[in-house]
Amino acid sequence: MILLLGTRNMGKIRELKELLADIKGLELLSVAERPFSEVEEDGKTFTDNALLKARAISRQTDLSVLADDAGLVVDALGGEPGIRSARYSGEPVDYNRNNALLLERMRGITDRRARFVIVIALHLTDGREYVREGTLSGRITEAPAGGGGFGYDPLFIPDGYTRTLAQMSLEEKNRISHRRQAIEATKGILAEIIREYP
Ligand code: IMP
Repeated sequence: MILLLGTRNMGKIRELKELLADIKGLELLSVAERPFSEVEEDGKTFTDNALLKARAISRQTDLSVLADDAGLVVDALGGEPGIRSARYSGEPVDYNRNNALLLERMRGITDRRARFVIVIALHLTDGREYVREGTLSGRITEAPAGGGGFGYDPLFIPDGYTRTLAQMSLEEKNRISHRRQAIEATKGILAEIIREYP
């Protein structure tokens, strides 16, 4: 089975290739091998956007596609930054500016509960679609801590931990992350689909 990774983010491509490497009978392609153009993410939910990307890229390339959409959902901010996580503080995407804005909006707020959400969507060439979600619950710190990870990691302490995701090794983060959970669920689906192949 050939599966195209529907992302232009090199870090994500590397991570997905590694996480999906142990599935036998799966040939992974990325934008380098099969170019596709950017898809506008104008959906209202993570699921909308993940499906939108998977469908549009599949239409462009005639391949089965895996796409995802992720973000940080903060309870006290009514779910913000949510689907706008990457561009919370405007264009171009700037993690430090986003983190500064989030801390400013959280100033004086004692309810710091938040979660990372990711939705992974599969769109197959025969039209079948599958969606799997992963979440990681935790809280927003008062100040950034740690130099690892990316995005909002320096501001996020997972439930049951005392360090931010940016203070953990990549291995430690990947053991508990929202992305890992969604990928594990997606791997089960892929293994079943591959079993149907002659
Ligand atoms: P994407 O859709 O996976 O590119 O994620 C959109 C945005 O959500 C990113 O630009 C980050 O700001 C944020 N985000 C998603 N996953 C994570 C994570 O694991 N750590 C920190 N920030 C994340």
